[in-house]
Amino acid sequence: MTNTTPQVDALALAAHRDDIEITCGGLLIKFADRGYKTGIVDFTAGEMGTRGTEIDRAREAEEAARVMGVTYRENLGMPDARLENTLENRLRVAETIRRLKPKLVILPHRDQRHPDHRVAGEMAYDACYLAGLKKMDIPGEAHRPHKILYASFFRKPPYSFVVDITDQLERKLEAVRAYHSQFATEDGQTSIYQPGVNIFDLMREDARRFGQMIRKTYGEGYFIKEMIEIDDPLTMSVNSI
Ligand SMILES: [Zn+2]
Repeated sequence: MTNTTPQVDALALAAHRDDIEITCGGLLIKFADRGYKTGIVDFTAGEMGTRGTEIDRAREAEEAARVMGVTYRENLGMPDARLENTLENRLRVAETIRRLKPKLVILPHRDQRHPDHRVAGEMAYDACYLAGLKKMDIPGEAHRPHKILYASFFRKPPYSFVVDITDQLERKLEAVRAYHSQFATEDGQTSIYQPGVNIFDLMREDARRFGQMIRKTYGEGYFIKEMIEIDDPLTMSVNSI
């Protein structure tokens, strides 16, 4: 972790600290394993969360970033549970995109339970577009990411592809466990997504389900809006029969 802003290859943006870990932690760890620079921008400080304080979550987010090998993490301090896609907020996110210059961004899929997640995805998409407009009044050089992936958890949007995270799953779970204020107690682990079901069991089960789709142990599913070009179908992975 550094205090000055570096350029990153991949940047994940989301509403709350721990959203990234839960939805796309495996891919971020995989990028870091391959030597890519990764970054996280959390929009809110989580001050409306039922458990823990902003200060607890800030410390936990630093620890989770360390586990995931993330190069840079920033919190924009926008209001939690009332996130709005205003011009002012869009421009702030666009400024961070210009500063970090990611080639790829991972955004929250719009079909999620918490309204902040839907707003975060839409706002980040708009900001990616604005960041590329040369004449827009935003500090820094115009920059637009080449690729936008959408991540989710516990919802069933259509998925476009699956990333093998067999070697990353245990570290993904460790990163989520870093949020002691949220998940250290039985109550915290079983009341957030599916009442009565432990979130760590749910995450492993979800990863196994995606893994099975590509004949691997664990996977993470992603959605993209555009088609994927295949140059040589003879080299495509995953047996059909
Ligand atoms: Zn969230």
